Amino acid sequence: MDSLPTVFVDVILPLAVPGTFTYALPEGLGPVIPGMRVAVPFGRGRKLYGGLVRAVHGDRPPHRSVRPVLSVLDATPVVLPEQLDLWDRIAAHYLCSLGEVMIAALPAQLALSSETRLVAGPEAAKDTADQGRAVLLLQALEQNNVITLEQAGEMLGLKDPMPVVKRLMERGALLLEEQLRDDWKPRMATYVRLAAGNSNEEALHGWFDRLEKAPKQLHVLMRFVEISRCMTDDPKEVERAKLVHASGSTTTVIKQLVDKGLFELYEREVGRPDPSRPLQRAPDLSEPQRKALDEVRSAFRGHDVVLLRGVTSSGKTEIYTTLISEVIARNEQVLYLLPEIALTTQIIARLRHRFPDRIAVFHSRMAQHERTALWMRCLGDDPPAMIIGARSALFLPYQRLGLVVVDEEHDPSYKQHDPAPRYNARDMAVVLAGLHKGKVLLGSATPSMESQHNARTGKYGHVELLVRFGDVQMPMITRVDLRDAAKRKLMRGHFTRTFIDAIQQALDRREQVIVFQNRRGYVPVWQCETCSWIPECDQCDVSLTYHKLQHQLRCHYCGRQYPPPTTCGHCGSPRLRMLGFGTEKIEEELGEFFPTAKVARMDQDTTRGKHALERILTAFGQGAIDILVGTQMVTKGLDFDHVSTVGILNADNLMRFPDFRAHERAFQLMAQVAGRSGRRKNAGSVIIQAQEVQHPVLDLVVKHDVDGMYERELEHRRAHGYPPFTRMVQLTLKHRSEERVASAASALALALREGLADRVLGPEIPVVSRIRDKHLRRLLIKLGRTRHHSEKDFVRDTIDRVFGDPQHSAIQLVTDVDPM
Ligand code: ADP
Ligand code: ZN
Ligand code: ZN
Repeated sequence: MDSLPTVFVDVILPLAVPGTFTYALPEGLGPVIPGMRVAVPFGRGRKLYGGLVRAVHGDRPPHRSVRPVLSVLDATPVVLPEQLDLWDRIAAHYLCSLGEVMIAALPAQLALSSETRLVAGPEAAKDTADQGRAVLLLQALEQNNVITLEQAGEMLGLKDPMPVVKRLMERGALLLEEQLRDDWKPRMATYVRLAAGNSNEEALHGWFDRLEKAPKQLHVLMRFVEISRCMTDDPKEVERAKLVHASGSTTTVIKQLVDKGLFELYEREVGRPDPSRPLQRAPDLSEPQRKALDEVRSAFRGHDVVLLRGVTSSGKTEIYTTLISEVIARNEQVLYLLPEIALTTQIIARLRHRFPDRIAVFHSRMAQHERTALWMRCLGDDPPAMIIGARSALFLPYQRLGLVVVDEEHDPSYKQHDPAPRYNARDMAVVLAGLHKGKVLLGSATPSMESQHNARTGKYGHVELLVRFGDVQMPMITRVDLRDAAKRKLMRGHFTRTFIDAIQQALDRREQVIVFQNRRGYVPVWQCETCSWIPECDQCDVSLTYHKLQHQLRCHYCGRQYPPPTTCGHCGSPRLRMLGFGTEKIEEELGEFFPTAKVARMDQDTTRGKHALERILTAFGQGAIDILVGTQMVTKGLDFDHVSTVGILNADNLMRFPDFRAHERAFQLMAQVAGRSGRRKNAGSVIIQAQEVQHPVLDLVVKHDVDGMYERELEHRRAHGYPPFTRMVQLTLKHRSEERVASAASALALALREGLADRVLGPEIPVVSRIRDKHLRRLLIKLGRTRHHSEKDFVRDTIDRVFGDPQHSAIQLVTDVDPM
């Protein structure tokens, strides 16, 4: 008989089940250390998972037969100790399971399970020294296209096919099915440059003369000089395809020029920094910048976290950059977090010129294989010195993290809404840096209430930079009364005369304009004039938005599409009117009012394609767009020289949300979009149209009064027991049966009140009470700021108890700690 195993491992499984699971490590497998993956069985049947070892120990679990680890998948850990600690902290803070954190954190390619769907990879055909089993598997794939890992096991007669599969994946012979949808190969492109010796003025003039009798070729050269800006200090690389397109020429003509010795062609991966570009020297900091930088440095002596409040266009990025280069020089790593990677091509370009080679970009829209490759590089001997990323970059393996920069720290996109873990990357950045004994710099022109509170109470260091770079004045903000304008018949469409005049003046001066409207689509509501019927989604309790371009109604909650009704769905009347307006409608109106201006729209609908957003931003940057209309996307981080005028069409919309953060958000959005104007020379001008022009938040926006806003809002939060004075947990229950969800919500509220009394609010029926055919109920819990750990344990236990009851076990529960 075999001797009893004496080594046990606690394993995290990629499932929404709480805790870790203990397995025995059979002799002959191993050694194993935390952070390695192991293949283990779980549940009934033959389900297999690639789990992650959390701990190795000698404590045999009592009363249970312990199942064995089937194989060890890694020779060295793929997850580092600080990462495992971070996972623990996230699971504890956000009341979710370690498995849920693991799913969010680990690239899919590293997380295998029985259900993993496999397809043949690009290297499958290469017949190398595969053992019989691998060949069998690849043959099976040829016939079946897709097989699951479970089927692979059956096919091979292996209880545990993971090691074979993993080997094939590493070679590129097997891929995850979802990877197939990513472009597996990096996109390579052919570029054109001047051959050696041609890139000076004299040589070029020689070529102009020589090509005089070949007008087609001459034309290509002229376009090349223009596009490449090869005679300027800021030359650009030119893709051959782009040159062909721009010159209306052909690859043959370009080939002729290569043969003549003018051009040469080269290939490289698209999107990589151009290695031939000269490094940019750091600009000299202005006096206010230097002072702020010194203050940040000294604040770091006493604090691990520093809040830098710098007004829009004060030059915060240069301060970050200087600090970053110091950290990198100490051979420590930097994580630079941005709210939305797509909107920040500008910043990435700026940083890449300063730190080429040392930078890696990471975000969730990246292809799976790229994410895995970067993860492995981070574990290796030569990890990137700086990672720029959206919130998920938090989960990469860092070996020596010295600094985390959280740019635009107030931005709600740092919060993950779905699925769990519903974490806020800004807050977890503080935890992460703490685990590495590194520092955190939070930056914003409009910091969140929470961070301002932490800074003003001394928990964080606090530095302010209150002048714009180059002493440019803050924009001049004007309020325009919509009611008054309507009364005096000074409206054209949704624009007041004042706003139209401001746009016209900007256009006359050849300046650019940004128009902000926080709703997309054409009109949000159709309504019957007779009976007030409004078309709603079948699956959700919301009205449908009309999209004119596609001539359809769309549900913005579930995405369902409907043909627009011709008659009322209730009384049959053909008279339907349209209420409200979205960006699409505004784009149309602008086109009518300013027929010679180029108008473009930036919202979720126009930026769906992979490079769509970049194209819009590039066009705007090059002046090919005069007026840019968009949703909150236009408020974020854009740094364009020629924007002089910014307008907000309807400020009331922003302030009327039924949410305690509505005023904070409205202030941030308006201050940020205003900050896009007049960034370079002359003060910009901002028009805010509103029904309720006297609203106190508008007063504060007009005065750029961040402090005043903070104080006003803080009083409100104190009076009503909102953060930062409490910590909130929002529990949303969902089920198809309204009766069952209501009864579960009442039971849960009752049980929670036993421990938390009147700090449990609800259950309430949310404004949108049904989504995707599921009824919703909501509870809100306010936890004490200091006692929240023990109170959270109570919440977790209560949830387990209530939903352990078979009567309620089918109800879906969404737990959101620090909801936004
Ligand atoms: P913020 O992030 O505070 O809104 P940015 O960092 O984008 O401001 O700076 C605003 C503009 O001023 C940018 O175009 C930037 O290039 C320029 N700028 C900032 N600091 C300097 C400096 N020290 N030298 C030259 N240009 C600077
Ligand atoms: Zn009707
Ligand atoms: Zn819907």
